[in-house]
Amino acid sequence: MAKAEWTLDPSDLLRVGPTFDLESFDRASTPGWDSGSKEADQFRLSRGELLSEMQERLFANARAGGEQRILLVLQGMDTAGKGGIVRHVAGMMDPQGLAIRSFGVPTEEERSHHYLWRIRNALPSAGRIGIFDRSHYEDVLVVRVDQLADVDWEERYAEINRFEEEVAASGTTIIKVALLVSYEEQGLRLMRRLQRPDKHWKFTSNDVDSRSKWDAYQHAYQEMLAHTSTENAPWYAIPADNKWYARLAVTELVSQALASLKLSWPEVAYDVETEKQRLATTMDPEAVAKAREGAEEKRADVAEDIEEYEEQVARVNELAATDSLATLAENGAKPAASPAKKSTGRG
Ligand code: ADP
Repeated sequence: MAKAEWTLDPSDLLRVGPTFDLESFDRASTPGWDSGSKEADQFRLSRGELLSEMQERLFANARAGGEQRILLVLQGMDTAGKGGIVRHVAGMMDPQGLAIRSFGVPTEEERSHHYLWRIRNALPSAGRIGIFDRSHYEDVLVVRVDQLADVDWEERYAEINRFEEEVAASGTTIIKVALLVSYEEQGLRLMRRLQRPDKHWKFTSNDVDSRSKWDAYQHAYQEMLAHTSTENAPWYAIPADNKWYARLAVTELVSQALASLKLSWPEVAYDVETEKQRLATTMDPEAVAKAREGAEEKRADVAEDIEEYEEQVARVNELAATDSLATLAENGAKPAASPAKKSTGRG
């Protein structure tokens, strides 16, 4: 049997466009993935080598003065799986190249500053992949629902858009992920936590308080998604009732973001041949030959992974050219010329 893969490009399907409607969004769906959960896990893991190769290129380019970096923003109600994404997706990459930050109730110092202050301070430096477990979006979610600030929300959305525009202009690819779990599934997950002593630490009575404000939160999410999904900082709505799907989809979004940077290895300032010869004079010739063999094998493996990835993307894009235009038409969206402008409202 052929290896399971995406049937449609998840970044097209999941991207939040102007017609996005949270109420009718199917949180148990698996857009673009027709195979099962086992295949999904295998596929996700198979992205590992590619991800680490591209992450290392990103890091290496920064050493040589490159400005590029990635910021993955995770939002979701309690139990939506933010922690699982950090563990399973970020876990496939070299921790040295990651900058993971979580944002809880602001400290006294944080409260004395503008709400974007702590966010600015946590932005990934060049070459890193930053992951925000919650973010400045709490300032239009919990803050809106609990009326913790008296602000004009439209103005705040516009301020966030300007901020992200600035962040993007500094070389940051921004991927914003809304993990959307259903009310029923959240109930199950919370109850399971309470059934298991080893999971009690994850529960706080605040979780039930937030759940009891579900409709207000959904409204805040809908507004947030509608106002802050921009070309340079798009939101992706991820159905999160199937954890395996959410992990697979986010892995793919990060892989695509890295691949689209088209990073090659930076030029080095020294002459490689001269250094090779200098080093060889200090080594046994057999050891020199052994080092050469290993390097060739590794290069071939990586080249194969990248080729396979590019083939997959090409196949999916070919399908997308026909199928997703139909999907877009169904959603009442006008297909735009550039994929970055495609709407994926899943009404
Ligand atoms: P988690 O619930 O993600 O495991 P924490 O226990 O640290 O993490 O809780 C984070 C809590 O902080 C959430 O209830 C969230 O709504 C709250 N929070 C985050 N940012 C803000 C903010 N700007 N204002 C008020 N509350 C916030």
